[in-house]
Amino acid sequence: MQHGDLIIKADYLLTMEDDLTVIKNGAVAVKGKNIVKAGTSEEISKEYTSEKIIGGQGRVVFPGLVNTHTHAAMVYLRGIADDIPLQEWLEKHIWPVEGKFLTSEFVADAVELACLEMLKAGVTTYADMYFYEDTAGKKLEKIGMRGVLGAGVIDFPSMYAQSADDYFRSAENLINNWKGSELVTPCVAPHATYTCGPENYKRARELAEKYDIPIHTHLSETQWEVSEIQRRYGKTPVEYLDEIGILSERLFAAHCVWLTDKDIEILAKKRVGVAHCIESNLKLASGIAPVPKMLKAGVKVAFGTDGAASNNDLSILGEMSTAAKVHKAISEDPTVLNSKTALLMATRYGAEILGLGDKVGSLEQGKLADLVIANLEKPHLTPIYDIYSHITYCMRPSDIETVIVNGKIVVDAGRLTTMDEEEILNKARGWQEKIKGSSD
Ligand SMILES: [Zn+2]
Repeated sequence: MQHGDLIIKADYLLTMEDDLTVIKNGAVAVKGKNIVKAGTSEEISKEYTSEKIIGGQGRVVFPGLVNTHTHAAMVYLRGIADDIPLQEWLEKHIWPVEGKFLTSEFVADAVELACLEMLKAGVTTYADMYFYEDTAGKKLEKIGMRGVLGAGVIDFPSMYAQSADDYFRSAENLINNWKGSELVTPCVAPHATYTCGPENYKRARELAEKYDIPIHTHLSETQWEVSEIQRRYGKTPVEYLDEIGILSERLFAAHCVWLTDKDIEILAKKRVGVAHCIESNLKLASGIAPVPKMLKAGVKVAFGTDGAASNNDLSILGEMSTAAKVHKAISEDPTVLNSKTALLMATRYGAEILGLGDKVGSLEQGKLADLVIANLEKPHLTPIYDIYSHITYCMRPSDIETVIVNGKIVVDAGRLTTMDEEEILNKARGWQEKIKGSSD
């Protein structure tokens, strides 16, 4: 008999390994940070004992959800300007407020709120693109969440950096500070094809190759972007990035809404990961990404919420439900993006496009213990015929009861264990007053 630090039991265990089998009366044994075994409760109890056994009846266990594209600190701009087009939204509302308030202190406080919201909704890993990611990294360590933190790069000066050299110096600092960290993966994030010229994209690629880290960018989000890039370079945004050598397995690109069939072929061939942000795309009326077509062509697609200013929450459960329904409606085919595919995209595919596929994304021996326990004893989750269907179409963030990251319980009985929730909310209210006061 071996000793485990923690044993998690559940009526339904979804490991999200290749066959997507549902293990009834399942259990996961955790030792330190790692999963040492996942299987039926009977199998686990033959091999492992532990003083700490959690979960149990009326529960489902699945891998922690992965948010592959957000701007976490933008939670402080949630609902600040809604119901207007992307360009106007950015230029007249988001950028002016960021110009006034975006500091390291802003990011430090805002990231706490974003992590609190995501962890309580079962998200254990997020990929970010923003500024002051070094500050975000420190918060992730404190709060106990996993992140791929992309140091933003744009062609023009901001409060954060004055020149390209400045942006890349910050990116390199981030890499040096976090390379090898257990929770934080540094990343370089040229913002988009219309805000970064070829020089900055190439510098980002060189940096990523030098340190063997991922690259993150926005790509083909709006029709405006496609026509602007056509005007500048005579190519689609995908063709343009391909020509300058940016497309590879190292890159995960957010949106990919406006794609030609040739673009999809290129993304598949170059093994670019795609962060599908359906709710942000719907809300900003950017369009709907051809996800069923991409999946069919072999492009790996996962879910992202984008920032809370254009979503307006950071719930991956919400993205799964919305995406699964919208793609059925627009393709007039109820078989596309079924509930198993939705959970696969939200877990294993998410981890894979971030370059973390060997560490998290499924519950198997040797992987890090990032997982969630949800309570099924709720009216909207009763009765149960198909557990995948319930997670995709019925489950809400408030059904998430326990969240484990790197073997540590960070949400217990629905409450964050690592920081004071009230304090985080109070700080957010303080910033709300400052930001509101500035525009009155
Ligand atoms: Zn974005």
